Amino acid sequence: MSAPLPDVILLKLPGEGPEQFVMIARSELFPGLTPGQPASREQWMDHFARLLHQPRLTESGVRDALLGRGLSAREIDEQLTAARRRFAVMTSQPTLWEHTTRIGYRNPDGQEIVKKTDKGGPEGQRIYVLRCTVCGHQYGAYGIDADHRRCPVCQDGPAGLAIPE
Ligand SMILES: [Zn+2]
Repeated sequence: MSAPLPDVILLKLPGEGPEQFVMIARSELFPGLTPGQPASREQWMDHFARLLHQPRLTESGVRDALLGRGLSAREIDEQLTAARRRFAVMTSQPTLWEHTTRIGYRNPDGQEIVKKTDKGGPEGQRIYVLRCTVCGHQYGAYGIDADHRRCPVCQDGPAGLAIPE
């Protein structure tokens, strides 16, 4: 049985020198579906800027923290790889962010977005339906995870979310 995804999103901060990361609770990150969260892009950027005031971690600090949450070394490598891409996607390249949550988007492991639901998961983020192009399995996932999901059935990926009715 594979481990669930961590309940935090890892972001790499921009800048020179040693890499710095912050961990943000998924429940705090996402605007849109949860009442009281920011609606416009301007509100979102304000909200996001406030969220970045977290303790900063080095790569080894991140590894320790995620090990403590039960992730394997391989899963931590995946989280770090995603974090290194994510900051740019969430700030300067919103069009790239939209691209990776578009119907038909297929990630490098062959996981394809087939449907955008209007339902949120436990943390209020929108659930997408992903289909594995290797074995055909369908499962629910959050948009921010779509670019690095692996199939829970044939690629030993994290368990999928329930697909909303
Ligand atoms: Zn599969």
